Amino acid sequence: MDLDLLHRLAQPSQAKTLLFVMDGLGGLPGSNRMTELEEAATPNMDRLAAEGVCGLHSAVAPGVTPGSGPAHLGLFGYDPLRYDVGRGVLAALGTGEALSPADVAARGNFCTVDAEGRVADRRAGRIPTEECARLCDLLRDGVDLGDTDFLIKPVKEYRFLLVLKGTGLGPDLDDTDPQETGREPLAPRALNKDSEHTAAVVADFVEQAQRVLADQDPANMVLLRGFSSKPEWPLLPDVYSMRAACVAAYPMYRGVSRLVGMDVVDVEGGFEQELDALEAAWNDHDFFFLHYKKTDSAGEDGDFQRKTSLLEEVDALLPRILSLGPDVFCLTGDHSTPAVMRSHSWHPVPVCIRGRHVRPDRVTVFSERDCALGGLGPHFPSTQLMPQLMAHAGRLRKFGA
Ligand code: ZN
Repeated sequence: MDLDLLHRLAQPSQAKTLLFVMDGLGGLPGSNRMTELEEAATPNMDRLAAEGVCGLHSAVAPGVTPGSGPAHLGLFGYDPLRYDVGRGVLAALGTGEALSPADVAARGNFCTVDAEGRVADRRAGRIPTEECARLCDLLRDGVDLGDTDFLIKPVKEYRFLLVLKGTGLGPDLDDTDPQETGREPLAPRALNKDSEHTAAVVADFVEQAQRVLADQDPANMVLLRGFSSKPEWPLLPDVYSMRAACVAAYPMYRGVSRLVGMDVVDVEGGFEQELDALEAAWNDHDFFFLHYKKTDSAGEDGDFQRKTSLLEEVDALLPRILSLGPDVFCLTGDHSTPAVMRSHSWHPVPVCIRGRHVRPDRVTVFSERDCALGGLGPHFPSTQLMPQLMAHAGRLRKFGA
């Protein structure tokens, strides 16, 4: 969808919209031939399906398995293929780090090099996260980049985040990771003139890091990749002239929401705390994105039964959410995470929209099989969801005379 067009059509409205995303919602049949959602007893979701209009959406393109970042961008109306986030920026978002567009972020690996400086293990024997944190401390204390500030943060195991903060930094740099063992790390290379200063700063960082880590075992060197800066995109509050809020406990979702201009509501704890925060923020915003994470984790663990139970738990909380009285309510997921696959998948995701002017369909059960028969269609691009929610909220005026 064209965000410029939607911006031209946007008009003010008093209506409140709530987009509720259960991460990894879609599933596949288990041993009893029913999906997680079909197996779960979800009377409240089924009532919604009966009152609303249902369908299935695909996040990036048919057959493409999305990560949660791109999948959420799609839900927010940003074509993930066009609005591409660099891997360094995604890593920063994942740690909850707020970036300025002038910063350059990169993903780092601690690695092992041999006496000749050739990479012997790209992951330094998968050192534990605590060791990674200790090494990050060493680099923070031992490296000085002059006018350029830097932030270094452990991520998981051998992975870390590096953010350069200064003036005149461009993000267009080749990786220093040679992607194979037996080769020396690559020298940082600028892909354009604007990034030449960054290449020099990164070369300085790598050289100092090697010196600081020389006596460490097994992690005695760093590899960097995915150099990128925070993109400057049209922002949701501007596109639709509305106050938008993210209610999510996980850093990654807060980061993606920040990228599209949402206010991020303070939440600590689990889903019940998210609901407390949602209720507290209700009067201050027009659009809410509410996120539930555990369904995805259960799918990735291959725990069919747990995913089913979690869906039932969420169902029991739906009346509390709906008692806020959203004018437009959307129940969906960002992608499928079938427990039988133990991973994200490309399968389209159930969605239901309830609002005063929805055209009802014959769907009365909220499930993959039933939603395929719904009025929204069995396979629409997720980027088409947001404009429909906005239309239902009265936020889009007529196109043409
Ligand atoms: Zn996800």
